[in-house]
Amino acid sequence: MNIDPQKLDRLAEVAVKVGLNLQPGQDLLLTAPTAALPLVRRIAAHAYKAGAGLVTPFFADEEITLARYRNAPDESFDKAAGWLYDGMAQAFSANTARLAVSGDNPMLLSAEDPDKVARANRANSRAYKPALEKIAGFDINWNIVSYPSPSWARQVFPDLPEDEAVFALAEAIFAASRVDGDDPVGAWAEHNAALRRRSGWLNDRRFAALHFTGPGTDLTIGLAGGHEWHGGASEAKNGITCNPNIPTEEVFTTPHALRVEGHVSATKPLSHQGTLIDGIRVTFEGGRITEAHATRGEQVLNKVLDTDEGARRLGEVALVPHGSPISASGLLFYNTLYDENAASHIALGQCYSKCFVGGASLTPDQIKAQGGNSSLIHIDWMIGSGQVDVDGVTEAGDRVPVFRAGEWA
Ligand code: ZN
Ligand code: ZN
Repeated sequence: MNIDPQKLDRLAEVAVKVGLNLQPGQDLLLTAPTAALPLVRRIAAHAYKAGAGLVTPFFADEEITLARYRNAPDESFDKAAGWLYDGMAQAFSANTARLAVSGDNPMLLSAEDPDKVARANRANSRAYKPALEKIAGFDINWNIVSYPSPSWARQVFPDLPEDEAVFALAEAIFAASRVDGDDPVGAWAEHNAALRRRSGWLNDRRFAALHFTGPGTDLTIGLAGGHEWHGGASEAKNGITCNPNIPTEEVFTTPHALRVEGHVSATKPLSHQGTLIDGIRVTFEGGRITEAHATRGEQVLNKVLDTDEGARRLGEVALVPHGSPISASGLLFYNTLYDENAASHIALGQCYSKCFVGGASLTPDQIKAQGGNSSLIHIDWMIGSGQVDVDGVTEAGDRVPVFRAGEWA
């Protein structure tokens, strides 16, 4: 069973036309795992057909990553390719679009020394910051799509032979990415319109807080001053309307970094850079996580929370109906891009400046004053399920049902 070449080509087309909305003459910087080469080649073809100036791919390779952990001297783990990220930041400043293909083995580093993993991640996050700020600040049109690499497919479908696992994961990706029909570009236009209606409704309500209740969860998330809900396609600062995530089912905004109270239990495991963190339960006081537990990967979770001051505070809250196609697939993808679109979620760390009214022109100090969080990390984890209710709480204290039993009320 091979990956359907027509659907793979449609995924590449959707990534370029819908995900990026790449403009004639615009350059494209692309990162991908080596396994994703068949998709990357099709993306390049569609990009040039759309008038791309120059497509520049960068590849990461699982064997080479493991070679470092198994053979490199200790000081290697405090290093990162800052020169490369500086160059990427320079490219973004010159209006180069950014496409990331995900598909790495989510458990690649699970057997490696957690301290080395944490140090390498920290060094990488620091070096990446100048480039990440331009992506998080939505300076340019960017997009992330996935490829069913064999190591990832084996993780999602452990009981299938490898070729069947790859085929099954490919079909799941095609369905979730809405490229399994005859008119994927039209299907995306319809989906974007539905997400726009939801975010418009929430923006009209101007809730002061959201209150999540469910098994192990009683959490009040204050929303940042002047927060704005977004979902689906939106306009980058360079004026290009793009769909950063494919797939996407969420509408999301910025919590107030100082106004989160209560406790929350994750409803799905979090796969973080090679480690599975399961059974997360945390307590918030004054917006800060004061206690964090996990039944698996607790050590890694606490290392993540110690990244910097902002790592213990929220940078995003997102609503996703339990009946979304990804949730309905019943699969655990071990990949945030998929799993975050299966359930309502919150993110630790950096907020998105676009999730403020007039966000494009706010300074970092203004964003902070309105309650926006800042951190080297942005990590989504799932807190929604068919058993979770969400109320919107107005400034006056009135409550409006938003979600009941995991669906829009
Ligand atoms: Zn999200
Ligand atoms: Zn997020």
